[in-house]
Amino acid sequence: MPLESISAVADVRQWVRDRQAQGVTVGFVPTMGALHEGHLSLVRRSVGECDHTVVSLFVNPTQFGPGEDYERYPRRLEDDLRLLESAGAEVAFTPTVGAIYPDGDDLTIDVGSVALPWEGASRPTHFRGVATVVAKLFGAVPADRAYFGRKDYQQTVVVRRLVEALLMPIEIVVCPIIREPDGLAMSSRNAYLSPEERQQALAVPRSLERIEQACAAGERDVVALREVGKAVLNDTPAVAFEYLAFLAEGGVAEVTRLDGPTVVAVAARVGRTRLIDNRLLA
Ligand code: AMP
Repeated sequence: MPLESISAVADVRQWVRDRQAQGVTVGFVPTMGALHEGHLSLVRRSVGECDHTVVSLFVNPTQFGPGEDYERYPRRLEDDLRLLESAGAEVAFTPTVGAIYPDGDDLTIDVGSVALPWEGASRPTHFRGVATVVAKLFGAVPADRAYFGRKDYQQTVVVRRLVEALLMPIEIVVCPIIREPDGLAMSSRNAYLSPEERQQALAVPRSLERIEQACAAGERDVVALREVGKAVLNDTPAVAFEYLAFLAEGGVAEVTRLDGPTVVAVAARVGRTRLIDNRLLA
């Protein structure tokens, strides 16, 4: 099936509604483009579970803070369209900033406490931008299901909260993290890393792996587990540690002992590039 590129909100909404009127399901994968296997895994999952799949390619200005990488964020539309077609998506929704923000960015959505710690503390306006654009995209693309990656763990918590609080009629599906063969979580921002930084960045997934090993060996105390992870990150001086958070699975509340499913989330900088990763501990 050839991929259709649609940039007008009214047109993509009509495309979705026409399909749904025939009693079939539409899946939606929101992305900022510069697609890699992580994104494509979401597209394939949607293609497998839904009758039709729409993918948005939109670099959302409001989720970047001042001084962040909005201008230099990679944009590779032609490559993205080719990848989407081969993954089985039927529509690429490619709106302009003006189409998504027709009245500017005065209206924003604040999802409250889940947006405050961790990523929210490092990037104070980030989740407001994410929640606002996701709500707008769901308005443009009234799909049955939307697919998000666990790579951005706190974002999945924010999106679930948004959908629940605003009573949005859409099912959220969260998909596993896709990694490079050496363990680095795939990210469009990995393209910023120099070859040397690319090697140094491996300390990030390695810190999570070591924590997992310590956990498997019976360590349950978060202070001890955090030290294990920090030691790995501090071993690579080029890596600037930001946080290692141990969170009860499904939310952003910190735990002090591992008594149930726990997510360990890490943020660190390698040179100018900020990386995040996480892992579920049993
Ligand atoms: P982005 O283009 O960075 O906004 O990401 C679009 C979607 O792809 C989000 O739901 C991300 O969580 C997801 N994603 C990005 N990287 C990965 C990855 N390595 N594995 C799985 N999902 C990912």
